[in-house]
Amino acid sequence: MATPTHSKTQRPPVVAILGHIDHGKSTLLDYIRKSNVVAGEAGGITQHISTYEIVHDDPERGAQRITFVDTPGHEAFCDVRSRGATVADIAILIVSAEDGVMPQTKEALQCILDDGVPYIVAINKIDSPKANVDQAKASLIENGVYLEGYGGDIPVVPISAKTGQGVDELLSMILLVAELEELTTTPDAPATGIVVEANKDQKRGISATIIIKNGTLRTGMFVAAHNAYSPVRSIEDTNGNKLMEAIATTPIVISGWSALPPVGSAVESFTSKKDAEAYNALAKETTTQQAAAPRKVASAEHAVIPLIIKTDVSGTGEAIAFELKKIENDRVSFIILTNTTGAISEADMKLAAATTGALVVGMGVSIDAQAAAIQEREGITVATYSIIYELIDFLKQVAKERTPRLMVEEVVATAKVLAIFNQAKKLQVLGAKVTSGTLKVGSKLRILRRDEHIGTGVVKELQQQKIKTTSVAEGSEFGSAIEASVELATGDKLEAIEQVER
Ligand code: GDP
Repeated sequence: MATPTHSKTQRPPVVAILGHIDHGKSTLLDYIRKSNVVAGEAGGITQHISTYEIVHDDPERGAQRITFVDTPGHEAFCDVRSRGATVADIAILIVSAEDGVMPQTKEALQCILDDGVPYIVAINKIDSPKANVDQAKASLIENGVYLEGYGGDIPVVPISAKTGQGVDELLSMILLVAELEELTTTPDAPATGIVVEANKDQKRGISATIIIKNGTLRTGMFVAAHNAYSPVRSIEDTNGNKLMEAIATTPIVISGWSALPPVGSAVESFTSKKDAEAYNALAKETTTQQAAAPRKVASAEHAVIPLIIKTDVSGTGEAIAFELKKIENDRVSFIILTNTTGAISEADMKLAAATTGALVVGMGVSIDAQAAAIQEREGITVATYSIIYELIDFLKQVAKERTPRLMVEEVVATAKVLAIFNQAKKLQVLGAKVTSGTLKVGSKLRILRRDEHIGTGVVKELQQQKIKTTSVAEGSEFGSAIEASVELATGDKLEAIEQVER
């Protein structure tokens, strides 16, 4: 039986902390890391690790993983967003109970709102004699943060990053918000992720910290981000432990990059160096085209839809931008080129004409005569509506149509090597048994030893009771000639893989 290997599973959230300087972001990140340290690791905490994973033992949900990512100031968070790679699934807006909302709190809030990520307010320093939680809450509400318990639905947790008071409640709140977000990963998809740190050192060359947001990364693959690629010779966690594979959303370090990959750039994985290099070439081209503003990177696996939004009132534009986030997924996203009020103008049309695949959508607006002329000449798609949900439905349809069909590898049969008869240079002759599915001549193989992927191969010949055959069913023993990249051994597992459309 074919094993369906592309089902989605829940994944842990990636969390970023933002706020005004000195409101306690670093103290909170340090506290969480130190108090949730995995046993045996305690000695190694001296170095500053900005991105890490913890396990929080939640009273209701049990032990759950959470990844924290340190963004050097909210500017970086916003900058990352503008490159289209959203790192964080959830933001924590940290506000000191001593000061309440400060200028950078407002900027951070704006970034969070622009990004459309759900957020939690942490009111920090409640241990301080100068703390005034009520006043801090009032300053938030004045700034449009409608807190839970005050007529709104933004969760708020009073904490002390110094003493740890309230931090467990904050971690549980993160898990609750994550649950509502229904964050998922497709473990068997090719890994995709985001670069969160990159540096160069004498010994290791260029290494980058990556958070995998979907799929699984295994050694032997290649990763590429923007202008750089790297073979995945080994995978390390941020404590330097070697991992066999990386799943969402453990932060990992990959060393051996061809160039310094930009922080915030999307990471794609490939089975060959050639494909990784081709991706680099494509990413470079896309950036040159859109040099004015770095954009989300379109790839063979991800479509990006440029949009020009025109509305009668600005609140509507924001509402549309918010709804777009719900349509986006790991294979399709929107780039809002402009989101302004007023009739659809000549300038809107020129921008649309200059941007491949751009659409113009209008809510309660008309199109002026010059714009209509350009539209006709250039064949630009313009859609105007008077009901927001009709406009959103239209964009949903466009997103669906433009979503690239993704080829994923599916394991269609597995076999266990029972004996090796001959290992000539090219073909290896062996005896084996099909443990699931049906193995066929020509099948591409993944070779696993003690669950570790060690090589690839192709079934060249199959025999049953010394008679040549084209396929062998589950449960049967067979003889085979296999072309493989490694020397096979008794006990090895063979996985026959096929490309299927997802
Ligand atoms: P950041 O700039 O947001 O990263 O802020 P820091 O974490 O560096 O904290 C700024 C200052 O506030 C430091 O002196 C911290 O010791 C102090 N601080 C942070 N959290 C707390 C807290 O919960 N209570 C008290 N009393 N002080 C805190």
